[in-house]
Amino acid sequence: MSDTSPLLSGLQRKLEELGRQHLLRQRRQVETPHAPVMTVDGRPMLAFCSNDYLGLAADARVVEALREGATRYGAGSGASHLISGHSAAHAALEERLADFLSPCVPSARALYFSTGYMANLAVLSALAGKDAEIFSEELNHASLIDGARLARSTLRVYPHKDLAQLDALLAQSVAKDKLVVTDSVFSMDGDIAPLRELLALCERHGAWLVVDDAHGFGVLGENGRGVLESLALSSPQLVYIGTLGKAAGVAGAFVAAHATVIEFLVQRARPYIYTTAAPPAVAHALLTSLEIIGGAEGRQRRAQLAQSIARLRERLALKRWTLLPSDTPIQPVVIGDNEATMAAGAALLARGFWVGAIRPPTVPVGSARLRITLSAAHAPDQVDALADALLDIEAGVPAHAPA
Ligand code: PMP
Repeated sequence: MSDTSPLLSGLQRKLEELGRQHLLRQRRQVETPHAPVMTVDGRPMLAFCSNDYLGLAADARVVEALREGATRYGAGSGASHLISGHSAAHAALEERLADFLSPCVPSARALYFSTGYMANLAVLSALAGKDAEIFSEELNHASLIDGARLARSTLRVYPHKDLAQLDALLAQSVAKDKLVVTDSVFSMDGDIAPLRELLALCERHGAWLVVDDAHGFGVLGENGRGVLESLALSSPQLVYIGTLGKAAGVAGAFVAAHATVIEFLVQRARPYIYTTAAPPAVAHALLTSLEIIGGAEGRQRRAQLAQSIARLRERLALKRWTLLPSDTPIQPVVIGDNEATMAAGAALLARGFWVGAIRPPTVPVGSARLRITLSAAHAPDQVDALADALLDIEAGVPAHAPA
């Protein structure tokens, strides 16, 4: 095809426009396992941008379980779950997850997905039919937004954590099926949805509550069961989604819900049916992650993470930028302007710190930010070093200032 193709020239123009707005994204190559110190594009970096909240992504026991799973089941699953790809490892993981979540979603079954993105597409596109109305929180993750688009239901978006608005929308609704959909921990803000109040509203209006606990599973709750455990919530009218590529350190996600909901997903959810199952070894490795998350070591790692969160917040007395209120490992520093945020990210890189610089459309226009994520694997002096670097950059101190 020639370079004068209208498609190519149109794409080129759009890319140039993104560049002018400082919205081009860049991938960096990681050459080592995920850990606080990683080799990135050939340089050692202290990383604060991973969702590996408990430091399990490179844990020797999880890695060994992955190896053992590959030895036992081979590399690939061979097909989708409903053809021939559903292995004993997938089944064991689903049973273990259902059992683990049972205090929060009574009599739940669990269904494993290859990614959280797929799980969210599946839940919304399969459960919300033409007669349904979806009530979606304004700051929901892209996968929930896309799932709501795939569903053929009426869609209402309610403002961030605005219970009064949601109440009014639910009261107006004449839909047969109502689904309220929310992130638990908002992925770019770190704050937590008012789930107790949301659940009460849902019960009052006969709605179901769909909770995406991607950033809460493994991190929140005494035993790491996630946001529901941390708020002591339990309801059969919940559809709970947890992801397994973040705190659990491996990959995939699961939906825990009433057995009928799960059976319907197996039968009708296209993002479940029409995709090759994740490698069984991944499911096998996750059994080891779950052991760690639910045991004494998990509790100890969560306590360590809480200490790092408190330490960073105490040290990071910013003057011009805003550290958003957050008790979770997601600690966003809002700078506002795209270019200034990129410059701050680059200044951190120059000092050997890797922090995600997040711009629209991932966050609203004018609220570009550094998204700091903490892990139980970070040492206190690493957290201090990041805080010092950020304070220096905010104050305009050059990278190699003379002592
Ligand atoms: N939900 C939320 C809130 C997320 O932040 C993410 C990923 N960042 C997902 C779902 C998707 O999960 P996965 O990465 O497993 O596809």
